[in-house]
Amino acid sequence: MRIAIGQLWQESNTLNTLPTTLADYEAFGLYEGAEILERFAETNELGGFIQSLRAWPEPPEIVGLMRFAAWPSGPVDAGTFNIIMNRMMEKLQLAGPIDAVLLALHGSMVAECETDVEGHLLHRVRKHIGPKIPLVATLDLHANITQRMVDAADVLTLYHTAPHVDVMGTGKRGAEALRRILFDGAKPVSAFRKLPMVVPAERANTQNPENFSYGVRKTLQAWERNHHVLSAGLATVQPWLDIPDLGSAVLVYCDGAAWKSWADESCANLANEVWNHRRDYLPELVDSADAVRAAHEQVDGLTVISDSADATTSGSTGDSTALLSELIKYDWPHPALVTLVGPETVAEAERRGIGAEWSASLGATRNPRDFKPITLPVRVVNAFDAKFILSGHLAEKLPIDMGRSVVLTHKNVHIVVTSRTGPHFAPQLFQTAGLDPFAASVLIAKSPCGFRAAYADRAKQIFVVRAPGCAPSDFWKLPFTRIPRPLWPWDDVV
Ligand SMILES: [Zn+2]
Repeated sequence: MRIAIGQLWQESNTLNTLPTTLADYEAFGLYEGAEILERFAETNELGGFIQSLRAWPEPPEIVGLMRFAAWPSGPVDAGTFNIIMNRMMEKLQLAGPIDAVLLALHGSMVAECETDVEGHLLHRVRKHIGPKIPLVATLDLHANITQRMVDAADVLTLYHTAPHVDVMGTGKRGAEALRRILFDGAKPVSAFRKLPMVVPAERANTQNPENFSYGVRKTLQAWERNHHVLSAGLATVQPWLDIPDLGSAVLVYCDGAAWKSWADESCANLANEVWNHRRDYLPELVDSADAVRAAHEQVDGLTVISDSADATTSGSTGDSTALLSELIKYDWPHPALVTLVGPETVAEAERRGIGAEWSASLGATRNPRDFKPITLPVRVVNAFDAKFILSGHLAEKLPIDMGRSVVLTHKNVHIVVTSRTGPHFAPQLFQTAGLDPFAASVLIAKSPCGFRAAYADRAKQIFVVRAPGCAPSDFWKLPFTRIPRPLWPWDDVV
């Protein structure tokens, strides 16, 4: 038996005007064929696929297709989109006869020329393999699920958690659904309900019993323990997508026509429950100046401030100075840690060298629409490669490379400047920079919710602030023009 596996992963953000290019995929690690098995057997969904397939009673031959992954950012340019599609399909054609296809997808990837990239890919794969070869794919919980995706795939398996701490587990669940189709004769029937609602990410925490999402996760996991259920998920879509078809969705797969009505009923009930709780997702935002002042008043222990509007995990540009301009107003007893994406600043700091002091213009190089640069006397204290292995939110042993990076200090404010975007919340980023994130007075996390997986147990206090950027939590105040209407919270849908 031969099973083809591949990955196409990126969360797009259409408010970010920087296009994602082939260079972004190459920088994140573009691999093909056997390289995928060599490099990703312990990483994320691909690792989940590979480990599960290898553990089957008669392990199949695993045929690697392509691995295209890039950090969340603006839509993919048309040329890159065509290259991705062509190389993926070429690899599939060259793979020869196969018995199934397993794909690790995100579900919210947008290209300049195609607003439903994953639907496009799944449709083309289905056309190539025909109606009988099983096609199973995994999706992020922030996927924008479309009818085209559901029509093309036999089963779509979603993350259950935010922070996304079940990425590899989702790969294993996808492989298990495929195993049941191939060996147990499972016949998937789907129930798909799209909801006219989009919710902020900040309070969609499935790991905190105080949040509505916690109960949803428990329900979905309980359903999947029922042998007749092949997969069940709620996708609270990434909100920063001005595209047609935007909306949250519930998706349930059962085995066999006898369970179709159960799937339909369960899907509809959960969709109604989510709809009725939509206001529970609205976060309480704190003014940036108030949050930083409260951090300063907290003499001992770590304060984490989520600058979710400039969350690089949400596809923002990462060059906001909104929090930095507040941090520099205070003398901090322990380091105050903040990040920036700024390749020009890194190059200038490296040219000047360690120990150099100068008045630097910081920030707002990637998104001058939302941010203002600030000029600040700084000292170069470290220059390093921001390369590390990420585990936790979004990742299980995921190699990260944010390029050459520097640490600049202004008094006790430490500014970690990277050349490329990436997880600008991760403890591993600060540690690679030579800083201890847990010993800081205050740390700015450019992440709306996922950062909690690393800091919730260690922080004395956490604030989510109101700030500018490509990923604001009050996104409905922005003039989206392509979304379907009515759509809550843009419209007060009854
Ligand atoms: Zn996500």
